[in-house]
Amino acid sequence: MNFALTPAQREVQERARRFAIEEVAPIARAMDERGEFPRHLVPRMGALGLLGGPLAPEYGGSGMDYQSFALVYEELGRVDASVRGFLAVHAGLVALCIRDWGTEEQKRRYLPRLARGEWIGCYALTEPGAGSDAASLETTATPDGDGYVLRGEKIWITNGGVADLAIVFATRDPSARHRGICAFLVETPTPGLRREPMPGRELGHRAADHARLVFEDCRVPAAAMLGAPGQGFAVAMSALDHGRLGVAAGAVGVAAACLDACVAFARTRRQFGRRIGDFQMIQAHLADMAADVDAARLLVYRAAWMRDQGMPATRETSIAKLFATEVAARAAGDAVLIHGGRGYSNEYPVERHYRDIKGLQIYEGTSHIQRIIIARDLVGREG
Ligand SMILES: Cc1cc2nc3c(=O)[nH]c(=O)nc-3n(C[C@H](O)[C@H](O)[C@H](O)COP(=O)(O)OP(=O)(O)OC[C@H]3O[C@@H](n4cnc5c(N)ncnc54)[C@H](O)[C@@H]3O)c2cc1C
Repeated sequence: MNFALTPAQREVQERARRFAIEEVAPIARAMDERGEFPRHLVPRMGALGLLGGPLAPEYGGSGMDYQSFALVYEELGRVDASVRGFLAVHAGLVALCIRDWGTEEQKRRYLPRLARGEWIGCYALTEPGAGSDAASLETTATPDGDGYVLRGEKIWITNGGVADLAIVFATRDPSARHRGICAFLVETPTPGLRREPMPGRELGHRAADHARLVFEDCRVPAAAMLGAPGQGFAVAMSALDHGRLGVAAGAVGVAAACLDACVAFARTRRQFGRRIGDFQMIQAHLADMAADVDAARLLVYRAAWMRDQGMPATRETSIAKLFATEVAARAAGDAVLIHGGRGYSNEYPVERHYRDIKGLQIYEGTSHIQRIIIARDLVGREG
């Protein structure tokens, strides 16, 4: 077993870290306060080779391994969940999904644009009545001449308001559940597709774009289908496998950032004539946080490594996502406490981490759903 990063992996980590520290961190708080998606960073990430990630160079990617890509997510996750979340959707749920399921024509049309950051991608699965139970989705795809007409509504779509391309999941027959679902590549703007921001002020990810997409007789050509008719559910689930690795690695970044912030604070803040880091109760928090960060990171590395070996890693990816998001939520809660009143203000980033981390426990399958995936793999299904 070799725990050392290769020189190539260290180079990617360093490139992502520099971008995160020099270009994302300085604007993260202001973007969060303004609720503004930092769109100008997208082509910049493309130029740095971060958007293409594991895509092959012939499609505009950097051909990096999944382990390297997990390092990119971790570095971005350390400074901002909105930008890291953008990447997990754009690259993990959209670009890698097109690479896995697209025709050669679809790959050549979309992947280089996505890798350069000229186009933004979004993934539209969730509906008002279909969240965890995605197979119950009600958006319909009705055959019409040489294409399909989409009718229905999607909610909570990350990048939805700014995307140039949406992977949209719709059913030819709602009673067939997962067997009726098809995936479509829908370019925007397109007649019959209306987009609006999600209502309400969100707890976290305030610099992310979350939209409601409404399809009113939205016509798409048959060539827009991604995968075969009825394969849409498999397309959706395989994309989530990619995305969840990004969420898990991003959660490691959040937990690691909280640990670093707490260590720095505990070394300098003094009460009762001593550094608070000299109090055993504070030390216990720090030690638990350090153990959690290491364990979560190793689970992420294992899932990424298995992917790099071409091994199936759905269960290991779910384990990594479940564990990393849960420990990061605990770390963020403890970090606010350790910072005392300062942690309660956005003067310190731990306040933003505390709000953002809740989203990582919910999207791309809640912690409950990750437990279901893991347990089903353990005990199987009867009948
Ligand atoms: C910030 C953010 C970004 C998002 N981005 C996207 C996106 O880009 N694209 C997209 O399609 N969706 C996106 N979503 C939607 C997200 O995937 C869903 O919110 C999530 O899957 C949960 O669905 P739901 O909100 O309908 O909750 P529900 O499914 O209604 O769940 C409610 C509660 O019941 C629990 N529950 C449900 N079923 C079970 C069960 N069988 N056993 C035990 N507990 C269960 C859940 O875990 C949860 O605690 C995003 C959501 C957020 C918050």
